Amino acid sequence: MEKDETIEIRWHGRGGQGAVTSAELLALAAINEGKFAQAFPSFGPERRGAPVLAFNRISNVGHIRVRAAVTNPDVVVVLDPGLIYITDVTSGLKQDGIVVVNTPKSLADIKSELSGPWKLAVVNATVIAREALGIPIVNTAMLGALLKATEILGLESLVEPIKERFGPRAKNNIDACHRAYEETLMAELSVVGQGPRKAFETERLLSWQELLPGCVVIEAGNAKQYRTGDWKSQHPVWDQQRCIKCGICSLFCPEGCIGQNKEGDFEANMYYCKGCGICARECWTEAITMVEET
Ligand code: SF4
Ligand code: SF4
Repeated sequence: MEKDETIEIRWHGRGGQGAVTSAELLALAAINEGKFAQAFPSFGPERRGAPVLAFNRISNVGHIRVRAAVTNPDVVVVLDPGLIYITDVTSGLKQDGIVVVNTPKSLADIKSELSGPWKLAVVNATVIAREALGIPIVNTAMLGALLKATEILGLESLVEPIKERFGPRAKNNIDACHRAYEETLMAELSVVGQGPRKAFETERLLSWQELLPGCVVIEAGNAKQYRTGDWKSQHPVWDQQRCIKCGICSLFCPEGCIGQNKEGDFEANMYYCKGCGICARECWTEAITMVEET
């Protein structure tokens, strides 16, 4: 980080991925280095799986007076691989900005999907988090990727904030952070590419009358409007041999998207299943397994 510089960062994640924690840990690490820093979230519908934003400002100039959301970031960090297809993650990114993306795709594949006058940094933080922590919470891994891409702080400055936040789980989070730092790959994006991003194929949305039998729609049009199926990074798979048709999973599903098909088997409507995994946790016969989206 240059002298007399203020860096603005925007984090794109999903509820439950730790974007807000990432921003807070980064700010604490910056303050520990004697810099000035802010971290704050953007509040929206705070549901697990919903797209969320968090922001940082880090300065070695002096007190940061601006309190508004970061709309012209120097850096964007994308915690969820799917977000680059459904959200304009590079909106307002400065000309020489940096995009840091968690993705299982190769650098070449992502370069073919994003274009602009920016630098790109990629890392498979989900795999790193699963192996280091046993769960796909990528916030500390993405902090390592961010520091590799920007060098705004020393990697070791994160150690104390991570220890304070995670206690006995700190070592694994520090390992995830260090490993992501090592594995992050950098490239220049092409200004002339295929366009800013590819959108998902949009299929015809079901109306509320067409949802599976047993589904609950609190307000007609609500489920149709918010296609929460776009949020998921994993989805439930039923073992119908183990399912005893008790219906508990459908009662607990927060999206009300589990119902019985014509054969009487329970299944989820993937337009609205947001991949929270509550059905799998509540199923007492262990008939539901959560499987990663590909
Ligand atoms: S809770 Fe489990 S056993 Fe009961 S209907 Fe759902 S999947 Fe089947
Ligand atoms: S079907 Fe399961 S994973 Fe999908 S939203 Fe409902 S409870 Fe969550």
